[in-house]
Amino acid sequence: MRSVITDVAIIGAGAAGIPAAIEAGLAGAAVDVFEQSDHTGGSCNGGNGVFAVGTAMQKEKQFTYTKKEILSYWMNYTHNMVDIRLVSEFINRSAATVEWLKGYGVEFSDLVAYYPGAMHVWHFRRDGSPFITDLLKAVSDKAGAKYHLNTAVKNLIIKDGRCVGFIGEDSEGEIEVSAKAVIIASGGAGKRADFVKEQTGCELGKDITVFPGMLYEDAATAPKLGIELAWEAGAAHTKLMIDSFASIPDPNFGPGGVPAQLPWFRQPQNICVNLHGERFISEAEMKNGAFMGNAIAIQKQSTAFMIFDQALRDKYDHTGMDYVMGNVHFMDDLTPDEYLKMNWDRGNRDIIVAETLEELCESTGIDRSLIRTVEEYNQAIEAHGNDPIFHKENEYLQPIKGPIYYCAKFRRHAYGVMGGLRINHRAEVISVDGDAIPGLYAAGNDANAIYGDTYPFSLSGNTSSFAINTGRIAGEQAAKFAKDLES
Ligand SMILES: Cc1cc2nc3c(=O)[nH]c(=O)nc-3n(C[C@H](O)[C@H](O)[C@H](O)COP(=O)(O)OP(=O)(O)OC[C@H]3O[C@@H](n4cnc5c(N)ncnc54)[C@H](O)[C@@H]3O)c2cc1C
Repeated sequence: MRSVITDVAIIGAGAAGIPAAIEAGLAGAAVDVFEQSDHTGGSCNGGNGVFAVGTAMQKEKQFTYTKKEILSYWMNYTHNMVDIRLVSEFINRSAATVEWLKGYGVEFSDLVAYYPGAMHVWHFRRDGSPFITDLLKAVSDKAGAKYHLNTAVKNLIIKDGRCVGFIGEDSEGEIEVSAKAVIIASGGAGKRADFVKEQTGCELGKDITVFPGMLYEDAATAPKLGIELAWEAGAAHTKLMIDSFASIPDPNFGPGGVPAQLPWFRQPQNICVNLHGERFISEAEMKNGAFMGNAIAIQKQSTAFMIFDQALRDKYDHTGMDYVMGNVHFMDDLTPDEYLKMNWDRGNRDIIVAETLEELCESTGIDRSLIRTVEEYNQAIEAHGNDPIFHKENEYLQPIKGPIYYCAKFRRHAYGVMGGLRINHRAEVISVDGDAIPGLYAAGNDANAIYGDTYPFSLSGNTSSFAINTGRIAGEQAAKFAKDLES
């Protein structure tokens, strides 16, 4: 069997693995990175932007969020069910990491809040500027990291309770990698529908829509997850969390769950119903796609419909919309009507326009109780100026009368799947006994068990930021561990 001997061996060359390689390399360690695919960058090349608190950019724009305030918000949001020491380490380092990224050429153009009331913590990469992971990969090359592409890791090697390497495999066969420290940064379970179904009961691609090409096609030949590798080696389990939000299914995906051309479909003035033709939530909740996705998940066929009429469309077009996705720009410059036409020309029926509610029910499968639901909604607004069921804010109440109705079908859509491994604030992997496994570190989605059950869209840019920050911590700590072994 071929062999590689190194100080720090990293599994996965994505948003966590590459920063880990930089920090370990800069600390003087020999670094080898093993990546199962034929490219570096991981699932999203570092994403559109990163979460941080207390940055120069925030101060310039007079956003005064403090680390204390965000930490307290976070622990409240998660009911203290996540490791506060790890969360605080992440928050405390986040601003310095933005400066670190800038130092390596990442260009941030704006601060974005995902919805009105969300925090301006998403440091947005300038449109058209190089991907974060591409810039960092070049830095890691200079720091001496060696990349082994098309090489999947199959098993960790544990000797006397310490992780001392792993077995990888490329097209020529197996490779034994001996390392003083190993970092798992393999991106979470989001590509393995079989594993996620087994762990959560939810089937990616069926119960929840996914991006095209996101899933491994054949579970039998898919590379092992870093989570599986560590569990086999005695690591503690954390629950998996599907990072999901309400969205019109692909190919109509876009910012806030709707195509960039059709933001009308996520406005609070619309009416939202399930397949029974009944409202199930205040439409104002649409601003937070993750919360809305949770509500959709428990409806019949995990499906919902957003409906508005021509009068509302005219209002949106002439006086603007309440829920605007900040500085998020995606793709082409078709007008809304051109976009709708393109959609139908391609045979997609997730967005439809109907003359009457009867016609709408016919083409969507929504029960005809919709007609009564809309009548009652309109009557309550006209007679009492309120929403007696969900108490939607008065400024969002407008009767929906047609004659033209616009309707989009919403499902829950997954960005990825987080968690599985428990790490401490030094990114050490914790064993089932509650102690750190010597020589074994993890970072990024595999170790991201800090949200509880729902992604916090109020603090956007969070997952890539967690990956980059924990990658940096893992790289520093693994290099230190390797050095300490020598002395
Ligand atoms: C469309 C989209 C947009 C996004 N936008 C944002 C955003 O704006 N802000 C934000 O914070 N987050 C965003 N994210 C999420 C962000 O991309 C992820 O949180 C981040 O990439 C996770 O980093 P990671 O290193 O854990 O995993 P990845 O970046 O996915 O890297 C994991 C790597 O490990 C490799 N690997 C897996 N198994 C093995 C194995 N057995 N052996 C060897 N290699 C292996 C994989 O091939 C992959 O290259 C977005 C995600 C998507 C899909």
